[in-house]
Amino acid sequence: MRDKQAKRIAELIEPLRVSPGSKVRLSRDFDPGYKADYVKKKDGEELLATGVELLTEYQDRLAAQDTWGVLVVLQALDAAGKDGTIRHVMSGVNPQGVSVHSFKVPSAEELDHDYLWRFAKNLPNRGDIAIFNRSYYEEVLVVRVHPENLVRQRLPKSVRRSGVWTRRFHEINEWEHYLVDNGFKVVKLFLNLSKEEQRRRFLRRIDLPEKNWKFSAADARERSYWDDYQKAFSDMLSKTSTEWAPWYVVPADHKWFARVCASAILVNALMDIDPRYPVLAPDARAALTDVKAELEAAAPKGAPRDPFAAEQERLAAKNGKGDAESHGEPVPTAPAAADEAAPPDGETPTAEESAVEGSDEGA
Ligand code: AMP
Ligand code: MG
Repeated sequence: MRDKQAKRIAELIEPLRVSPGSKVRLSRDFDPGYKADYVKKKDGEELLATGVELLTEYQDRLAAQDTWGVLVVLQALDAAGKDGTIRHVMSGVNPQGVSVHSFKVPSAEELDHDYLWRFAKNLPNRGDIAIFNRSYYEEVLVVRVHPENLVRQRLPKSVRRSGVWTRRFHEINEWEHYLVDNGFKVVKLFLNLSKEEQRRRFLRRIDLPEKNWKFSAADARERSYWDDYQKAFSDMLSKTSTEWAPWYVVPADHKWFARVCASAILVNALMDIDPRYPVLAPDARAALTDVKAELEAAAPKGAPRDPFAAEQERLAAKNGKGDAESHGEPVPTAPAAADEAAPPDGETPTAEESAVEGSDEGA
């Protein structure tokens, strides 16, 4: 079941992935109106619900394992659906494990630092997912389209000369490589909207008073730089889609399909990490058995010694024997079940393994 889901997800997102090293021209290579023909709108809701469910489960495991963190980078032009994507895709996850950061025009304090500073301050903790609603990629997008933003950054003259964008692509790639090497997966989504669909959405924002707050004259002004942005996005996708942090171009003209894709890309990333619930070392497990005996002995008159186990037994009897595990609940005092959950690659260290593992070869 899980393998089949993983395969379908991989198939759905494969055409959206920017092959590292490829030269992208957005208008030629990615259609904002694309929908996989085998996915119908009427199934979209169900697919998104499945995605949300999977995300909820994987996020719980991610938090429990507390080893990997996930950074989700969302880039798009105005009205492409960044906010709605976040709202829908993340609707089921535990808010304790997720943070969303929106990056605006940098403040005076932010301009007083290197350009990655404000992003570094908001990276996820291990076990958490952080979403960047706009990101350091603005540094090669809006800053490139409007170079006065670069002037405000007060770079030393020597680095302000030519090559600043090439250098930034390189710096960003290396920074992401560093993050991945240190246990932080970087998932990058570009919501690809057509000019005509943006026009429609802008008009909707103007026509509906309750949407007016989402629109500003500046948004319309930015629209007149459409071609410059398309070029900047194309270059960004060409230069910063890497093996360790590839870009996905999500077709954004159909909101429902964009959300299905975004959730699939996220689930795929978490499936890649395959986080596992920690497994206790045998002595810690044995200590729990002692505590369990004490708690059982403290049962008041008439109460079951272990109410949870009693309930599990009752359910198992009702559903036919051996079914307790299918409820997703851990089975108490069943070390065999715990052994099965052990990760094949030892990603979750037991207590003894927590010490630093073997040194680098040749170091
Ligand atoms: P919004 O996301 O619609 O609330 O708008 C945020 C605004 O901040 C957008 O117009 C971005 O272009 C702008 N912005 C984000 N990052 C930067 C940056 N590094 N330099 C200049 N403007 C930025
Ligand atoms: Mg805006």
